[in-house]
Amino acid sequence: MLILMFGAPGVGKGTQAKLLQERKGFFHLSTGDLLRAAIKNGTELGLMAKRFMDRGELVPDDVMIGLVEETMASTHTDNFILDGFPRTAAQAEALDKMFAKNSKTIDKVLNLSVPQQEIVERLSQRRTCLSCGATYNLIVNPPKNDSICDVCGGEVVQRKDDEPETIKHRLNVYIEKTSPLIKYYGAEGKLVHIDAVGEIETIFSRIMSVLEPAYKV
Ligand code: AMP
Repeated sequence: MLILMFGAPGVGKGTQAKLLQERKGFFHLSTGDLLRAAIKNGTELGLMAKRFMDRGELVPDDVMIGLVEETMASTHTDNFILDGFPRTAAQAEALDKMFAKNSKTIDKVLNLSVPQQEIVERLSQRRTCLSCGATYNLIVNPPKNDSICDVCGGEVVQRKDDEPETIKHRLNVYIEKTSPLIKYYGAEGKLVHIDAVGEIETIFSRIMSVLEPAYKV
């Protein structure tokens, strides 16, 4: 089963995708996580991507399409979740071509939605572990020991792109470049809207009620 996690930055795509990975065995392909790993490892890709990411801009399409193509080619499962890709019309078209080449299709596009004001609050309170990528919210789910990650003991910091000015810009980029894809997937009849306000477990149940009828993992 191939699922796209769709929605603005901060709606909880990564959190829900990680739960689906842990509990249901999906392979979770997050392009943001891949880029952050490249930055951490100091690769050429990381150095290039960082310039865009720190400003809240999208990394160029050709780079992202190549990265996803490469990762999918080395992933031997049919059960995966794409989180953070596609983000532009060119990426959506490239993904369709990749799937068509392998006789695969997208099963569901989950569009997680949260009102914009709550998104800004969530992102400004979000803190992320530099080592394992675990995320925290300073109000509802802070790390137990200041800035030490509960999961791996790494350092928990505010992502540069979660600073207030960059958050605003990322949301504008989402509205302009990514949100038109809602229409694209809506026309294909694969889009499901998920109310992503509430407890993490409640949102997970909403997602499972959509996936379970077609569940093949
Ligand atoms: P995320 O962790 O998904 O919020 O992604 C963080 C940042 O990585 C984004 O703001 C972009 O700069 C970059 N990025 C991640 N996925 C993509 C993509 N599919 N296309 C372009 N840039 C991306």
